[in-house]
Amino acid sequence: MNILFFGPNGSGKGTQGAILQKQYHIPHIESGVIFRENISKGTDLGKKAKGYIDRGELVPDDITIPMILNRLKQPDCARGWLLDGFPRNVNQARQLDQALKAADLNLDYVIEIVLERKMAKDRIMGRRLCVNDNNHPNNIFIEAIKPAIKDGKPVCRVCGGELKTRSDDQDETAIDKRHAIYYDTHNGTLAAVNYFKDKAKSEKGALRIIELDGRPGVKEVSDDLLKKLGIKK
Ligand code: AMP
Repeated sequence: MNILFFGPNGSGKGTQGAILQKQYHIPHIESGVIFRENISKGTDLGKKAKGYIDRGELVPDDITIPMILNRLKQPDCARGWLLDGFPRNVNQARQLDQALKAADLNLDYVIEIVLERKMAKDRIMGRRLCVNDNNHPNNIFIEAIKPAIKDGKPVCRVCGGELKTRSDDQDETAIDKRHAIYYDTHNGTLAAVNYFKDKAKSEKGALRIIELDGRPGVKEVSDDLLKKLGIKK
């Protein structure tokens, strides 16, 4: 099962991605997470990427594209993958499409969480990251995934682990820049989404497109997702 997962920062994509990963037992590959891991380990890749990430800009394609295409060749991807945060522009979409063709791989689903920009921005500011597991979603503004409180301090609602904020989550200018890239239908991420929507229409093949309304709570969105995937009635 090969899935591309789209949604603006703040749409709950990480939360729904964790649900999908459990459902299909496939690796959840998040370009942003790979970059952050490299930054915290101080690798060359991390050093190259840090400035762009802190400014809310895209890391250049000549760094990002090979990084993701190599990741998809790792043995744990043999049974499929859930790709999240990539592609983010038309060039990345095209190159991914070509690489999949060359490897004789098909995309099964393109899933898009649709959420308007203002709501997405408010949600980002409340997001907290669990230091133990990136698939433990916490948000101080969303009731269903509010952190637990231990000794008067917010901790991860799943494992009780320490919570951190992402430096680029609290910076409004960086959020606005990231959203400008996402909502750009000419060359940004929505253009990449449209690339695959057009492909699904023109090829009439196995690729299915799923659109989800990102406005309701976590449970409603995941019920909608599982229904559209045919997993739940
Ligand atoms: P995310 O965790 O998906 O919000 O990504 C955090 C940051 O990593 C982004 O704001 C970009 O600077 C960088 N990044 C993640 N994915 C990509 C990508 N596909 N292309 C370029 N830069 C990316």
